[in-house]
Amino acid sequence: MRGLHVGRFQPFHHGHLKVVDMIAEEVEEVVVAVGSAQKSHSTRNPFTAGERVSMITKALEDHEATTYAIPVEDLNRNAVWTEHLKSFCPPFQVVYSNNPLIVRLFEEDGFEVRKGHLFERDRYSGTEVRQRMIEGDDWRELVPDEVEDVVDEVDGVQRIRDVDEDDYY
Ligand code: NAD
Repeated sequence: MRGLHVGRFQPFHHGHLKVVDMIAEEVEEVVVAVGSAQKSHSTRNPFTAGERVSMITKALEDHEATTYAIPVEDLNRNAVWTEHLKSFCPPFQVVYSNNPLIVRLFEEDGFEVRKGHLFERDRYSGTEVRQRMIEGDDWRELVPDEVEDVVDEVDGVQRIRDVDEDDYY
């Protein structure tokens, strides 16, 4: 059986990793859909789809379950978004999400949706990681080592600071 986990992963952090660990206890394979694949270089979405795939692939390299990280662009029609997403992914039978819109859309499409724990949501959140990057605080403790490496490789901290300044204009 395969399970689906959808997110933007801007960036992939320890909370996301715990969710994948939890899913992997219940299914053989995990499909990680990298949402808003077309977005990058903004304060809310600093990293490209390829950079996020790289973060996820490396962070899950030694993971027991087989995982597939698949970029999925947004679609301006929520009613057919699950069909759009499915057209890019290997077949999956169960969806894991805490996002109310995603829960609703997949339930309407007939899927079983399982909601999980939020792991220290105040710390382990993309918003917190990005804020710490902008303010020069310690973001590294919030992400796997492999994600740190990808952020450093693409000069991600300077990028988010530059594009954050641009957001004021
Ligand atoms: P996210 O990266 O913020 O979160 C991904 C998932 O991880 C969520 O289920 C969240 O609850 C969970 N999570 C985050 N921190 C956690 C923690 N500490 N402990 C446990 N779980 C944690 O991503 P998101 O913004 O929810 O991504 C949804 C994606 O789906 C977006 O890209 C969105 O555009 C896309 N989407 C698109 C459409 C459309 O195009 N019509 C419709 C619905 C959703």
